[in-house]
Amino acid sequence: MDPSAQEPVAFIGLGMMGLPMASRLVAAGFSVHGSDLSEQALAVFAAAGGIGCTSARKAAEEASIVITMLPNGAIVRDALLGSGGAALALSPGSLVIDMSSSAPMETRRLAENLSVRNISLVDAPVSGGVKRAISGTLAIMAGGDPVQIERARPLLAAMGSTIIHTGEPGSGHAVKALNNYVSAAGLVAACEAVLIAEKFGVDPNVLVDVLNVSTGKNNSTELKLKPFILSGSFASGFSMALMAKDLRTAADLSEQLGVDAKGAQNAAALWAEAAATLGKAADHTEIHRFVAARGGKPEKGG
Ligand code: NAD
Repeated sequence: MDPSAQEPVAFIGLGMMGLPMASRLVAAGFSVHGSDLSEQALAVFAAAGGIGCTSARKAAEEASIVITMLPNGAIVRDALLGSGGAALALSPGSLVIDMSSSAPMETRRLAENLSVRNISLVDAPVSGGVKRAISGTLAIMAGGDPVQIERARPLLAAMGSTIIHTGEPGSGHAVKALNNYVSAAGLVAACEAVLIAEKFGVDPNVLVDVLNVSTGKNNSTELKLKPFILSGSFASGFSMALMAKDLRTAADLSEQLGVDAKGAQNAAALWAEAAATLGKAADHTEIHRFVAARGGKPEKGG
């Protein structure tokens, strides 16, 4: 049952994250059959030693483990159970590992739908961004049956350096959305602080240096402000649309569970507006430009 170098693993979604993650599996000796809507992604994957397939179903034909790394849970469901979906090619006893940042309640339903076919689901979303996907040092939060997580472990270990079992199916996705809420809140606070400091006449680089040796330090002050925002590159590789989706997931989860989380609701509204204003191609670090255009006004709970 363990994934071996002989039996191919199917990998659906070869984008900013999926491509380096699937390439890590290839480098670790797994035979990886990848699929993506983009022909260019398939070509780059083939150049990295993978096998490009024209549909999710084709990629899964000889596999008993399918990994998905797609924009959202609705697309994951379609890539598995829609026409041409990977699950249609899988035998009973197979395993799906959804590493996308999907919505946890949808994941619970998907796990039930797959279990009718005797297919297991582990949700194993990641944190760390493109840089850590390339180095194989992602943080992985895995929800599901511990036996299935052990089965997935050799694959996960090739892509990440930390694997934390979060609980039942869907719990990995819940924790991931909450992580991104906390991360986005820290990023907006950091951007607002930069704008206010600048207005006061403080060099933003000096502010960042102070934050990073003080209690205001967070992932954004350390890894995003100087490289992507103050430099003006806005090239983190994580889109504004995907971050807005994650914040909507966190806000919806609070509602579904009856938790009054105004900060999460305000953050979801702010990021949705930013994504609509700046467009599909925007990087999530361009939230700085959005906040600046609004005059750097502090955003409640953002
Ligand atoms: P991306 O948009 O770069 O890649 C998504 C890929 O999926 C694209 O190549 C697209 O062509 C492909 N795709 C879409 N529908 C498909 C289908 N039906 N069949 C096959 N391929 C299909 O997105 P990404 O940045 O790689 O993010 C993927 C997931 O990982 C998202 O859920 C995101 O929230 C999450 N995530 C991203 C980052 C990051 O830094 N980019 C970090 C952590 C988690």
